[in-house]
Amino acid sequence: MEFLPLFHNLRGAQVLVVGGGEIALRKSRLLAEAGAVLRVVAPEIGTEVRELIERSGGEQILRGYTESDLNGCVLIIAATDDEPLNAQVSADARQRGVPVNVVDAPALCSVIFPAIVDRSPLVIAVSSGGDAPVLARLIRAKLETWIPPTYGHLAGLAARFRHQVKGLFPNVQQRRAFWEDVFQGPIADRQLAGQGAEAERLLRAKIDGDAPATTGEVYLVGAGPGDPDLLTFRALRLMQQADVVLYDRLVAPAILDLCRRDADRVYVGKQRADHALPQDQINQQLVDLAKQGKRVVRLKGGDPFIFGRGGEEIEELAAHGIPFQVVPGITAASGCAAYAGIPLTHRDHAQSVRFVTGHLKNGSTDLPWKDLVSPSQTLVLYMGLIGLPVICEQLIKHGRSADTPAALIQQGTTVNQRVFTGTLANLPQLVAEHEVHAPTLVIVGEVVKLREKLAWFEGAQASV
Ligand code: SAH
Repeated sequence: MEFLPLFHNLRGAQVLVVGGGEIALRKSRLLAEAGAVLRVVAPEIGTEVRELIERSGGEQILRGYTESDLNGCVLIIAATDDEPLNAQVSADARQRGVPVNVVDAPALCSVIFPAIVDRSPLVIAVSSGGDAPVLARLIRAKLETWIPPTYGHLAGLAARFRHQVKGLFPNVQQRRAFWEDVFQGPIADRQLAGQGAEAERLLRAKIDGDAPATTGEVYLVGAGPGDPDLLTFRALRLMQQADVVLYDRLVAPAILDLCRRDADRVYVGKQRADHALPQDQINQQLVDLAKQGKRVVRLKGGDPFIFGRGGEEIEELAAHGIPFQVVPGITAASGCAAYAGIPLTHRDHAQSVRFVTGHLKNGSTDLPWKDLVSPSQTLVLYMGLIGLPVICEQLIKHGRSADTPAALIQQGTTVNQRVFTGTLANLPQLVAEHEVHAPTLVIVGEVVKLREKLAWFEGAQASV
């Protein structure tokens, strides 16, 4: 190991920064965040650095560097673009045995700055020993996406109860088991979902020994339209801690593969008029599994609250007092439109957009036609394939121009995406000609014309 990572307590400690420009600013910001008192020496010092100095209670020295500037400092940063000067600062600091960092010159450093993921009080540092800082930064970016921003609050919660728990369990193993349970269960889920007060209440109950018998929980997760890259961080996190996953036909296999490996997978898929499981049985199954103490992910295509019957499922959960979370997803309209190069609204062409289902509860396609014919409104039809001939006919009959541009997007956002454009008049014909099948989204409106200009990137986005 070239460098030993240590976390340095700089609260109230004097740190010397040589240089007053852009590089000095970046380092000064970090140092100030860690509570250091800044002494900055340079003939010129930028305004932002000055502000940091002032806030840290430090001093600015407006002249060239001299050795005595090191006096009283516990850490030295050389951040100038003058190489001989940087080398001099490094030599002086080493002479005195004070840690020194020279920006972009690992050979002159006794300490180096890592790439930092700050979820204070949780802090992660990544270093390549100065050999490949870009690589370290890329790893940091991966960690940033993997660890939710609220993770630090979890550590904060633990800090508030640490002593109490220590008193409760003098035995280290018991204590470890207690905290593992907290960090991997519903208490952590609550905290990460931003429900700090509820997390604290559950933790108190656990400490007092009257935590409710382990009830499970249901996560109603929007899986987006198909491309796994469109999942949210929260969706992925909950998928990776699920005991059971109930999924729809619309959920792409590549997305299912991102669920915890040893989670049970239950297919409850729906095909039009051929439901694998009737909705009330799905609702019941969610309740039963949660009552067995399981963490259940109910994975839904797109967004659970857009033509996803998510509302019905949570009604049932609420009626049985089962805790649940709803994780929004990218709905097919947003995903397909973006990947097909069709903006849903546009200042010149569409001032509103309307999401409509082409398949009503009673099996008919009896839509409020008069509301759907304004030329400045984009229509997005979900489940519109079967009823398409009737829908096009009625829209034209009620006044929408037969020439209105329209698009069919089959399996949008996936590598199998197919897009066909035409007009309201010939859309049903396109379906027959190209054997278009579900899932397909229909977009009707002037905005479809823009695809000619914007679709140059089609295919470049789909990653599955
Ligand atoms: N909750 C989902 C919609 C479920 S209704 C959402 O928010 O997206 C099912 C309909 O959604 C399908 O019939 C189809 O019209 C549309 N759909 C879902 N995913 C799609 C995809 N990848 N490509 C095209 N249409 C899709």
